[in-house]
Amino acid sequence: MKIKTQEISTGILDEKEVQLFVKRIDLIHEFISGNKWYKLKYNLLEAKKNLFNTLLTFGGAYSNHILATSVLANENGFKSIGIIRGERCSDLNPTLKLAKEYGMQLHYVNRNEYQSKKTSKFLSALRNKFGDFYLIPEGGSNKFALKGTSEIITKIDSQDYICCSVGTGTTLAGIINSSSIKQNIIGFPAIKGYKELKKEIQGVTTKSNWLLNNDFCFGGYAKTNPLLINFINTFNKNQLIPLDAIYTGKMMFGILELISKDYFPKGSSILAVHTGGLQGNKGMNQRFGFSLP
Ligand SMILES: *Cc1c(COP(=O)(O)O)cnc(C)c1O
Repeated sequence: MKIKTQEISTGILDEKEVQLFVKRIDLIHEFISGNKWYKLKYNLLEAKKNLFNTLLTFGGAYSNHILATSVLANENGFKSIGIIRGERCSDLNPTLKLAKEYGMQLHYVNRNEYQSKKTSKFLSALRNKFGDFYLIPEGGSNKFALKGTSEIITKIDSQDYICCSVGTGTTLAGIINSSSIKQNIIGFPAIKGYKELKKEIQGVTTKSNWLLNNDFCFGGYAKTNPLLINFINTFNKNQLIPLDAIYTGKMMFGILELISKDYFPKGSSILAVHTGGLQGNKGMNQRFGFSLP
């Protein structure tokens, strides 16, 4: 697949003498966040190989992963079941509405049940209810996902720094594993206080050319403030690149903030991976009256 990389042009980059590029894996599909496409790729092959006809996975009501799974299941001839955390609302939000249109069967569980989603008791209850299925963990994160995300960065991505938004860390881990040791990888966590994150990434990577920057999660997962929303809208107006408010907006805000604080040496080049997430803006706009792109 040919993925477009765009150079950003803005005054601060000239002033600080750094180059910033965006790898647009968000453009792979309107409803499949780019990194979720890579995370699901080898899971779909594994499910096919083992002759499953149903995929089952977990997620919140606005989950990029839930929607991505429904679309890819549909395109590849699988049935899909989404176990959704929380109460069913009478009006489906834009994410779940689309997932349903793509044929996903939605099943709601309360937060306590959701917590126990990895237990064999909960899973065998699901198998009794739905029949056999190929299980994809929350966020799609497993070893097949890691194999897929190690294909995001290739040899042509030779910038000095690679930046990526982080949830479970599987996307970042794939990027670390496929990077050159001369490159510096920076992850921007979207979740606050996820203590095991660093250890989990260390557990599946072989290099130490990376770090997590926790300064730009804006209070926590899916939290926003007017500064972030304005930033996303201004960035879209000036660069014609839409960002989402949960992952990529926070990462890009962080990168530009670090540039303005001289974090990156003069002459260095930075690649930001645009993982997608844009489907989520619709739900944010509906809930909070934002006008995100
Ligand atoms: C899920 C997601 C992430 C985080 O990916 P992980 O592999 O869980 O770290 C980042 N960006 C977007 C847009 C996502 O949907």
